[in-house]
Amino acid sequence: MANEEKFDCIVVGAGPAGVTCAYALAKAGLSVVILERGEVPGSKNVMGGILYSTILNKVIPNFWEEAPVERRIVKKTFSILSADSELQMGMRFEDFNKPPFNNTFSVLRGKFDPWYAKKAEQAGVMLLNEAVVDKIIVEGSKAVGVKTRLEEGDLFTDVVVVAEGVTSLLSQSLGLRGTHMPEHMVTCCKEILELPRGVIEERFNLEGEEGASLEYFGGSVKGFVGSAFIYTNKETLSVGIGASTRDIKYGKTTPNDLIENFKAHPSIRRLVKGGKLLEYSAHMIPEFGYDHLPELTMNGLILTGDAAGFVNMNPMFHEGSNLAMASGLAAAETILEAKQKNDFSNKVLSGYRRRLADSFVLKDLKRYKGISDFAIRHPEFFKEYPELMIELARDFFTVSEMPKGKSRGLLIKKIIKRVNFLKLAIGLNRARKVMF
Ligand SMILES: Cc1cc2nc3c(=O)[nH]c(=O)nc-3n(C[C@H](O)[C@H](O)[C@H](O)COP(=O)(O)OP(=O)(O)OC[C@H]3O[C@@H](n4cnc5c(N)ncnc54)[C@H](O)[C@@H]3O)c2cc1C
Repeated sequence: MANEEKFDCIVVGAGPAGVTCAYALAKAGLSVVILERGEVPGSKNVMGGILYSTILNKVIPNFWEEAPVERRIVKKTFSILSADSELQMGMRFEDFNKPPFNNTFSVLRGKFDPWYAKKAEQAGVMLLNEAVVDKIIVEGSKAVGVKTRLEEGDLFTDVVVVAEGVTSLLSQSLGLRGTHMPEHMVTCCKEILELPRGVIEERFNLEGEEGASLEYFGGSVKGFVGSAFIYTNKETLSVGIGASTRDIKYGKTTPNDLIENFKAHPSIRRLVKGGKLLEYSAHMIPEFGYDHLPELTMNGLILTGDAAGFVNMNPMFHEGSNLAMASGLAAAETILEAKQKNDFSNKVLSGYRRRLADSFVLKDLKRYKGISDFAIRHPEFFKEYPELMIELARDFFTVSEMPKGKSRGLLIKKIIKRVNFLKLAIGLNRARKVMF
């Protein structure tokens, strides 16, 4: 393609970040192409499966009326597991059963991503599948296009949006992002298990379109920093684990061992019983933290979504999809400003960071920036304390003829013997600061 036929914008990757950006730009009348290496959008993507949709609802109001979402999440549980027991906190809110359904839906990316990309195409975006981008073409200090494996070869543009997900070799090759330490990456694996709709609703106590998200800590990942999950879809369950790549490396285990161990737990095996394995996938999650974010822009280029490390590390939320979409939208707004000024230099594109700083994206990343450091310094919160809490609860509720005063005394003795109170107080204070 000749230089004069260039696109207003080239987006690399048809995940939530790339499609949101492309959709918003096409709606505003710009010529946009998305280059996606998969056969179709969604074929290469892995997500636990909870779509947080405040941004999507802005981009396509009431999207749930037409989008292939699975279930609206009205029920949430958080559990600590030991090797064979469970301590659970659960909640169910009827308000979440009403539009906008708390902006929390279970989705299967294999269905959701093609739908979202089609919406972008309908808005005027050109989507090219099986289009791997090998390199960003830089002239002087400005990105001017991409080198692809397509017949057309090189494509040119005013601005490249890198939305290629967690590995982001392109941003690394430009020096925007360094190679990340294993403690800043989470290694995950996920299975999709098929079960009849009625069985899912009965097992998880759901009606109609209602869904549940179940999060598991402690023994679910053998006490590593990480967690496991079960999310209900219409006729499948999404079951997965994610643990710090550092812990998996030094713990000499594999994600597959962890998920098999999780599914065999007495609390879990009855939830997944009879589930037919439809899909198995493995992926990474970037948990760089606010202090380790890459350079987000350069002349003619913007980094979005997982490629930029935009994932909320707080284990209570696991929010990546919404941040990816928010960054895609902020990139589109910045590009529209640059187009108006006919200036795609870093001076104008750096407005992207300011937009993100004013939004929940960088505010939340900043708020929770201490989490990975906390996890490294306080491994007792992931193994010893969860195990002790389960043991204490079991002792407390074990029925015997021992007078309650005496059993209470034994419980207190156990706590005194097993807990260093200064260490606990320091840990709790740090946890309060980084998690809440
Ligand atoms: C196991 C797991 C569970 C998760 N659970 C949740 C959850 O429940 N809720 C949540 O909100 N988030 C979750 N996340 C995070 C969430 O999946 C990501 O934050 C989100 O998908 C990021 O979107 P993205 O558009 O930046 O990247 P992606 O969705 O990764 O999309 C990147 C796209 O770029 C394409 N691509 C890559 N390289 C190239 C190239 N060179 N040329 C062309 N195309 C390329 C890829 O094929 C892909 O389609 C989870 C992640 C994992 C791994």
